Amino acid sequence: MNILKDILYKVNLNAVVGGTNVTINAIHFDSRKVEENDAFVAVRGTVFDGHDYIDVAIKQGAIAIICEALPTSLVDGVTYIEVDYSNKALAIMASNYYDSPSDNLKLVGVTGTNGKTTITTLLYQLFKNAGYKVGLLSTVKILVGDTEYKATHTTPDSVTINKYLKLMNDAGVEYCFMEVSSHGIHQGRAEGLRFEGGVFTNLSHDHLDYHKTFAEYRDVKKSFFDGLSPKAFALSNGDDKNGLVMLQNTVAKKYTYALKGYADYKAQILENEFSGLLLSIDGSEVWTRLIGNFNAYNVLAIYATAELLGLEKVEILRLISDLQSVSGRFQYFISDEKITAIVDYAHTPDALKNVLETINSIRTKNESLITVVGCGGDRDKTKRPKMGHIASELSTKVIFTSDNPRSEKPETIIEDIEKGVEPQNFKKTLSIVDRKQAIKTACQLAEANDIILIAGKGHETYQEVNGQRFDFDDYKTVEEFLKQLQK
Ligand code: ADP
Repeated sequence: MNILKDILYKVNLNAVVGGTNVTINAIHFDSRKVEENDAFVAVRGTVFDGHDYIDVAIKQGAIAIICEALPTSLVDGVTYIEVDYSNKALAIMASNYYDSPSDNLKLVGVTGTNGKTTITTLLYQLFKNAGYKVGLLSTVKILVGDTEYKATHTTPDSVTINKYLKLMNDAGVEYCFMEVSSHGIHQGRAEGLRFEGGVFTNLSHDHLDYHKTFAEYRDVKKSFFDGLSPKAFALSNGDDKNGLVMLQNTVAKKYTYALKGYADYKAQILENEFSGLLLSIDGSEVWTRLIGNFNAYNVLAIYATAELLGLEKVEILRLISDLQSVSGRFQYFISDEKITAIVDYAHTPDALKNVLETINSIRTKNESLITVVGCGGDRDKTKRPKMGHIASELSTKVIFTSDNPRSEKPETIIEDIEKGVEPQNFKKTLSIVDRKQAIKTACQLAEANDIILIAGKGHETYQEVNGQRFDFDDYKTVEEFLKQLQK
C-alpha cells in the first residue's frame, strides 16, 4: 500500500496541510535514510528530536511530513500531517504500508523482565519441530522460516517489525513469536499489530534507568495486555505478584500458569539436575534438557501457549522433550577435568539470583561455585551493589569484572558492585577489570567437579567500550582456557 491517505488509515489526524492522494515510496524516521518521494515521521527520541530534522528530510526528498507540531514555515508541494504521538502514528502507518502483515499470521508477544528470549526461541523451535513455518523476532536473532537476520534491539522499530512480518507472509509463515520489551511498548512500537496472544513471564527490578518507577514499568507492561483484542489470549504467571495485575483490564481471554498457586496450567518439579528437569505438567510427566526452577516456568508457559494455539497436549509434551537450550541461556559444557562451565545472560539482580540458586540447588557441598560477573556502564546503577551482594552471598568465590562499560570507567562500576558485598564475604571476592583475565583466573582457580558461572553477556559476541564493540565471546573464552589448562 503506497498512497499516503491509505497509509494514514486509522491514524488520528489533528491537522492536514496539503494533499494525501500522493504516492509514497518508503516511510522513515531517520532523516539520513530519506530519499525522493518518501514520508518522514518526526519522532521524539531520548537523545534526538526528529522535529529538528524536518528540513533535512525535505531536502533529501521527503514529500510528506508526519509530526507532533507543524513547523512555522511550510514548504510548497510537501504534505504536513499533525498527530498526537508520532511513534504510534509511525507504527500504524508501517502496518498499513506493509498491508497489515500481522493479520496474516498468528503472532504471539512475550513480555516480562526475564525469560522473553528463552520462551520465544523455544516456541519457535517447538512449532518448527511440529512441522510449521515459523518466525521469530528476538534479541538474539530474527528468523523468517529458516532464514536468519541479525537482531539489534529487543523490540525493533515498528517499520522493521512490519517489514519482517511482511517477509514472513511472503514466506508462508503461520506462527510468529516476538519479544515485546517495555521500551518497545512505551514507544508504541507494537501499535497496529494484531496479536493472537500475549504472555507475561515475571517482573523485577530492571530498566529503572528508562522507566522512572517500578509502578511505571509495571503499567507499561500491563498496557500491552490492555491492548489485546477480545479474540486474543492473555497468559500470565500466577506465581508472580504482578501476574494478576497484568490481566486486570484486558478484554482478551485470561489464563494463568503456576507452579505454586492455583492456575489454569499447573506444573510440578519432580527432579532438577544438571542433565535437565523432570516435570509433571497437567498430570503428565515430561523430561526436558532445560535446567533450573525458572526454566520450569518457561517450559510451562511454552506448554500453555502451544495449547492455546491449538496443538494437542500429547504432541506438545513430546516436542518439549526435544527442545535444545538457547544460546547463552544456561549454556554449559563439562571439561575433561570435570569442571562445569556455564555461560548465562543473567544481567539483572533477579536473574543472577535465579541462576545462582539453580546451580546451588544442584551442586553438592564439595563442588565450589566460582562466579565471574560485572555490570554494564551507562545503565541502571542501583542494581550494581545488589548484584555484588547476591553474587558474593551465593557463590564460593566471585571475580568482579567488566561487562560493556560503555562510556563509564570500568573501575568505578566495579567499585559500585563491591559496595554490596558484606564484610564476611570480602575474602571470597576479587576484582579483575579485564574480562578475559577474569575468566582465565576462574579457570585456574577451579578444581575437578567445580562449577564456573560466567554471567551477564550470554550470547553476546562483543564487549562495548566507549561506543566501540570489540570481539568477545564468554563461551569461547572459557572453553579455550579450560582446554589450555588440560595440556
Ligand atoms: P529476556 O529475553 O527476557 O532478557 P532471557 O530468556 O534472555 O530473558 O533470560 C535472561 C536471563 O534470565 C537468563 O539467562 C536466565 O538467567 C534468567 N531467566 C530466564 N528465564 C527466566 C524466568 N522465567 N524467570 C527468571 N529468570 C529467568
